[in-house]
Amino acid sequence: MARVHNFNAGPAALPLPVLEKAQSELLDIAGSGMSVMEMSHRSKEFQAIIDGAEAGVRKLMGVSDDYSVLFLQGGASLQFAMIPMNLRRPGKSADYVDTGSWASKAIKEAKVGDGACNVIWSGKEEKYMRAPKPAELSFSADAEYVHICSNETIGGIRYPVFPETDAPLIADMSSEIMSRVIDVNRFGMIYAGAQKNIGPSGLALVIIRRDLIERTPENVPIFLRYATHANEGSLYNTPNTWGIYIVKLITDWVESLGGLAALQKINEQKSGKLYDLLDSSDFWTAPADKSSRSIMNVVWRLPSEELEATFVSEAKKAGMIGLKGHRSVGGIRASIYNAVPMEAIDALVSFMKDFEAKMG
Ligand SMILES: *Cc1c(COP(=O)(O)O)cnc(C)c1O
Repeated sequence: MARVHNFNAGPAALPLPVLEKAQSELLDIAGSGMSVMEMSHRSKEFQAIIDGAEAGVRKLMGVSDDYSVLFLQGGASLQFAMIPMNLRRPGKSADYVDTGSWASKAIKEAKVGDGACNVIWSGKEEKYMRAPKPAELSFSADAEYVHICSNETIGGIRYPVFPETDAPLIADMSSEIMSRVIDVNRFGMIYAGAQKNIGPSGLALVIIRRDLIERTPENVPIFLRYATHANEGSLYNTPNTWGIYIVKLITDWVESLGGLAALQKINEQKSGKLYDLLDSSDFWTAPADKSSRSIMNVVWRLPSEELEATFVSEAKKAGMIGLKGHRSVGGIRASIYNAVPMEAIDALVSFMKDFEAKMG
């Protein structure tokens, strides 16, 4: 077996110990004589798994009982639609900050129909190089919430500090969930597609303050209401049982590493090695403003598109995949989520040094 160094943006690398554990339990989990995919979501065995996943999320992120933790389907993208449907009551508006591709997609959903959506700041003119400073944001009086994307997966930028808001702050944390210590109490809601840091695709983690769950207008379909899922412990219908199981295993793995503070340190070291190299020579250009550099998605350019294509194909030959930048921005992107080990970073850094010596 030869596993690659996986820098995919999503779906992305999963921790090897988690994959091995899932493999060992694939045919018979906990003496049940079946795989987790074959058991009833209403069984006591599965209840223990989903309870364990929720407890893991609560413990690692410090989520208090004021919040519900939900495992929903439809990925992060369904949340782009559910948030305005549920949390922006008729006659009111919502504030959105536009920091890049994913924030823009959330804005698009919020504008559907006659949706009142105020884009209170946009980094578009500056080519989405940075997150706004708190002083650059002024909020609308009738805004029901303020929506941000805390880490832009494609542009490789993140908020160094989160804005202070009166209205509930809602963050799309898909590409940085559980990668650093955050204060959940600063947020009305946090959500994430699982496939970057905490599991497989098709599953979304939603952490929502309980009082917000009650806001939903009556014309919202039952399935699309947060209350429906909160009242049924994410078992209103058949959930992504496999995905929830993997989340449980990942929270166990993160716990075994020492939790989010320990992981943040490792993530800062990993991204630091890449940024140090990028800053050391004019051969590389890292477009993200230093104030906003992501520790999960590191984006850079080479002197020409030809060199970038050569870089990607040579890297692939050397066992490093997923380095091509998103088609909308080009260049190179290394997604270095929690599961990407230090050895992968060291291999990439050493490949880059050789590449520069040869081509620079
Ligand atoms: C990947 C990603 C999404 C989309 O997630 P889906 O699960 O595919 O809907 C949304 N926001 C961010 C920040 C992402 O990185």
